[in-house]
Amino acid sequence: HARRIEGVDKNIWVDFTQLAADYQVVNLGQGFPDFSPPSYIQEAFCKAVNGGCSMHQYTRAFGHPPLVSILAKFFGRVVGHEIDAFEDILVTVGAYQALFCTFQALVDEDDEVIIVEPFFDCYQPMVKMAGGKGVYVPLRPVSMEGGKALTSADWVLSSEELASKFNPRTKAIVINTPNNPLGKVYKREELQVIADLCIKHDVVCISDEVYEWLTYDGAKHVKIASLPGMWERTVTIGSGGKSFSATGWKVGWAIGAGPIVKHLKTVHQNSVYHCATAAQEAVAQGFQREYELFGTPDSYFLQLPEMLHHKRKKLATCLESVGLQPVLPEGGYFMIADISSLSEYVDLNDPSTQDEPHDYRFVKWLIKEKGLATIPVSAFYSPEHRKDFENYIRFCFVKEDSTLNAAEDILRKWS
Ligand code: PMP
Ligand code: GLN
Repeated sequence: HARRIEGVDKNIWVDFTQLAADYQVVNLGQGFPDFSPPSYIQEAFCKAVNGGCSMHQYTRAFGHPPLVSILAKFFGRVVGHEIDAFEDILVTVGAYQALFCTFQALVDEDDEVIIVEPFFDCYQPMVKMAGGKGVYVPLRPVSMEGGKALTSADWVLSSEELASKFNPRTKAIVINTPNNPLGKVYKREELQVIADLCIKHDVVCISDEVYEWLTYDGAKHVKIASLPGMWERTVTIGSGGKSFSATGWKVGWAIGAGPIVKHLKTVHQNSVYHCATAAQEAVAQGFQREYELFGTPDSYFLQLPEMLHHKRKKLATCLESVGLQPVLPEGGYFMIADISSLSEYVDLNDPSTQDEPHDYRFVKWLIKEKGLATIPVSAFYSPEHRKDFENYIRFCFVKEDSTLNAAEDILRKWS
């Protein structure tokens, strides 16, 4: 095998999704809705599939023209910068492939990439496969008066610590807002600190914004690409699957200045070439509709967070009532909770897991013994910092109320 795949063979989604399937659990693990996408986008997909020959054939390699056109129009308005549909956008097989193309295109052997922890796990192996070195800087919970951090806003970066990670080898920094798994939504001032460092050190910012529509309690999503001097050095990544609750369609994109995106296109044309035409057509129709309805109550980008706001409350109340302290997320569809108080109830003597981090053992026990699937949070940390964060597990709440009720029943019975 090639050296570039050494040490990246383990994958939590592969492992924990299989485990969840084997034990037929109530699944609050992997992040996908267990309800259907809005009917208009399902209809758009059906119409595309039935729409004649061209929908079943190749389309433009870097993105189906109707899709890049509406993405340019839609995000040009959001980011406050004109976007060229054919120069500044690459459509990919999910946000995953947009990330992969970005790292492959920009990171050289021995380049450093700063990754803010906790991070969506794939950044680390992707940087490694490009030959780069991940340099990690954690968001840390500030101790609130009388106890622990209660919301994701209480998890912050130290500006000094962050600044200390930049050096002449630094090629890029990766941020994710709203963050998976924590739910942090970076404030403008926090993004400004990052932007200032990127500009000072001539570093690219890779901003993963797949949960950009999902913010709660007045938190506002700000695009770092919209800050002065940042359009030219930011690659913003999005997901049709997350935007329209259709994660199986795997349509994603990278948006940024043409001179950067052109390198991503080189990776794409020499690997995947393009993604499914009909799915791109349906996502284009979805964005067309959202463009017209943006900011109105009929917009799905408003309806989905509204629906999730209630589910988030429901899950938080349930976790609190059984003694699991949740960190209330400002955005996204995950919630992490501190499991320290429950550890005494858990018989973690399973010898098959004894070398694993505490949260991995806890999650496996919860799946096997109680039939509830979650995800261990230390999986979102580098090996250096994993030990400090193995007392949290992640719950996904983009689920039917009946699924959340079933999870609640399990937690109440046991604790
Ligand atoms: N980034 C983050 C933060 C994610 O949570 C995910 C998982 N959906 C992805 C990227 C990948 O998205 P996609 O399903 O569009 O490939
Ligand atoms: N982004 C989703 C999550 O964090 C799914 C990840 C995946 O399936 N690889 O759960």
